[in-house]
Amino acid sequence: MLRPETPESLKLAQTLLRDGALVAFATETVYGLGADATKGEAVAGIYAAKGRPSFNPLIAHFADAQSAFAVVQADERAARLAAAFWPGPLTLVLRRAAYCPIASLAGAGLPTQAVRVPQVSDGFRSVLRAFPGGIVAPSANPSGKLSPTTAQHVQAGLGEAVDLIIDGGPCAAGLESAVVDLSGPQPKLLRHGALAQADIEAVMGQKLALDVDPAVKASPGQMVQHYAPSKPLFLNASTAKADQAALVFSDSNGFEQACALEVLSPSGSDVEAAARLFSALHRLDASSARAIVVGKMPVGGLGAAIVDRLRRAAAGRGE
Ligand code: AMP
Ligand code: MG
Repeated sequence: MLRPETPESLKLAQTLLRDGALVAFATETVYGLGADATKGEAVAGIYAAKGRPSFNPLIAHFADAQSAFAVVQADERAARLAAAFWPGPLTLVLRRAAYCPIASLAGAGLPTQAVRVPQVSDGFRSVLRAFPGGIVAPSANPSGKLSPTTAQHVQAGLGEAVDLIIDGGPCAAGLESAVVDLSGPQPKLLRHGALAQADIEAVMGQKLALDVDPAVKASPGQMVQHYAPSKPLFLNASTAKADQAALVFSDSNGFEQACALEVLSPSGSDVEAAARLFSALHRLDASSARAIVVGKMPVGGLGAAIVDRLRRAAAGRGE
């Protein structure tokens, strides 16, 4: 459903987001496909709508720096960049706050979270204000396709997969935000974007280390560090021993012996399973088990992305 931006469509956007639906909106960079960042299943819906083969971490958008910095551990460097460039095309990757309300799927299970205060219309900023936990929004295009800079692009690419598209006119920058990682002592540029590296460095009074991998330009999420549990992880298991923790999709038959068990979706929903994946892994990793065994995962829908993340989590640990 494509609607011009009016008080009514903005109100509808807020209601839909509150209900866990997807709303596409204009920012100064590109159109974003938004969901309430605190709702795991809504976040899973983003990956399903985009047909993303993998759960890349998403950027959470906020009305102002104060709300953004309530969910992450911001330091003086972050405050200085925010004062200089927000609202604007700069994304900051910071460590999550101890009580970060953002769904673990949105951060792909990582201890960091990307945050940004975008330039949006006054109307949409009031929608953002209604979500102090953030609106996660990757570009509103099918995975692997060009980023959308008009509402019509979004409609053509995603159509019915989006519950509401608010037409806020063409995007001014038409280029994604620059991504700066401030989670460690050395600031790093993870993605070139609509803000020049030199401008960021001028404000920081410091050079950025470059962590942009030219080989993965087409899918920038690939260069991101991946969540990995501390325990060995074994895929495609059909049984569990007493010293093992088990992660299963919906059927726990055969895993009765496991000392800890997580059933991702008793009803067999790939969306629910995706939403619970990382929090379940974190719980099993914190258990007394020596290893984590993983049962068969679904093949359709979000199954491929779930298996992709589990394979990465298992890499070098177990199989
Ligand atoms: P998009 O999907 O276009 O919104 O792009 C999101 C960008 O932010 C990608 O380049 C991601 O790799 C990057 N990103 C988001 N969250 C994180 C994170 N926690 N750590 C590192 N990079 C991130
Ligand atoms: Mg994109």
